Amino acid sequence: MAHERSRSRIIPPGSVLGILGGGQLGRMLAMAARSLGYRIHVFTPEPGSPAGQVADVECVAPYDDLVRVREFASRTDVVTFEFENVPSATSAAAAEVAPVRPDGRVLHITQHRLREKTFLREHGFPVTPFRAIHSEEDLRRAVVELGLPSVLKTAAFGYDGKGQQVLRALDDVGPAMAALQGAPAILEAMVDFTLELSVVGARAESGEFAAFPVFQNAHARHILDVTVVPADVPEAVQAEARDLAHRVLKSLDVVGLLTVELFLARDGRLLVNELAPRTHNSGHVTLDACVTSQFEQQVRAICGLPLGDTRLRSPAAMANLLGDEWVASQGKPRWEAALALPDVHLHLYGKSEPRPGRKMGHLTALAATPQEAARAAILARRLLASTETMAST
Ligand code: AMP
Repeated sequence: MAHERSRSRIIPPGSVLGILGGGQLGRMLAMAARSLGYRIHVFTPEPGSPAGQVADVECVAPYDDLVRVREFASRTDVVTFEFENVPSATSAAAAEVAPVRPDGRVLHITQHRLREKTFLREHGFPVTPFRAIHSEEDLRRAVVELGLPSVLKTAAFGYDGKGQQVLRALDDVGPAMAALQGAPAILEAMVDFTLELSVVGARAESGEFAAFPVFQNAHARHILDVTVVPADVPEAVQAEARDLAHRVLKSLDVVGLLTVELFLARDGRLLVNELAPRTHNSGHVTLDACVTSQFEQQVRAICGLPLGDTRLRSPAAMANLLGDEWVASQGKPRWEAALALPDVHLHLYGKSEPRPGRKMGHLTALAATPQEAARAAILARRLLASTETMAST
């Protein structure tokens, strides 16, 4: 097969990079790849997508149109995906005609919480105790075994806390089961954590590995709110987190990028919460703060180029901009107020409809300490979201 011949060679600038998915991760990947001289083809069900806007070609079709998927992949030199809910059949169809990185097995495992947690547990990685849930009886038994509170998650199509419910009493079992509407699920013991961390790791086909500094993440309503780097944890914990990520990428034989989301439990243990076989919202801070951005690193890893330097240039923070900021500013975000702050950078994703909870962009701030950077990013966001009258008072 054509792609077998190309497995170990460099895919040089000038080649065509195919991206399955048209969201903001694909957009920022496309922008980094363009800087390196690649041409970009995006496959997306939505026309005018964030990634499609900056691509050479936007192929609009449903993911299950495998004829279009093959046709799309045949015009590329390498295919990657920018979100993990691309159906397995789609990546398999693309893999018939082009190398897909990371490969379909990584996608298959990481797009399903139960498969993912089972893989992690079987390979000796630390995870919170969990049970597979297929019936109300399973759930009742699991609640007794794991204790309350516990977290019920749909096995598939979950991200940003979607499809997640916290069970606090036995009486919650019935309604929680009904809300699942028959979808397979996983029950997890609630983790008593002090911090949430993430490690974005890259691995080349040769096995070469590089991780970015550990990010510290704060969530609001289950969606990432603010990331700071370096994380406020001892160097030994950072080293352990990066080593854990290295072992995860190795055991999945990842070629490309993969993010490991971690809990730092109150007892000091690191537990893996989730894997994402791609760049990560927390890694957006690398665009302004690191020698190489996570998006350039993704291009390098999937194209067989040397991995870039992941060093931090400065303590930094990232604050997400959700559609809520548009609502708060009555539809007129005050860009000039946010951007008047020194060392604050704006990244917007080209989405025209600012719905509450929808990721529209992010702000990054660089400063002498991570705390100062967080204050600057949050201040910039507050100024941006304020109405003119409020801001002038
Ligand atoms: P997820 O969609 O699995 O990344 O979960 C979203 C957020 O919910 C996480 O970042 C945590 O803040 C919280 N969460 C998820 N699972 C657990 C758990 N087992 N224990 C405590 N908090 C959790």
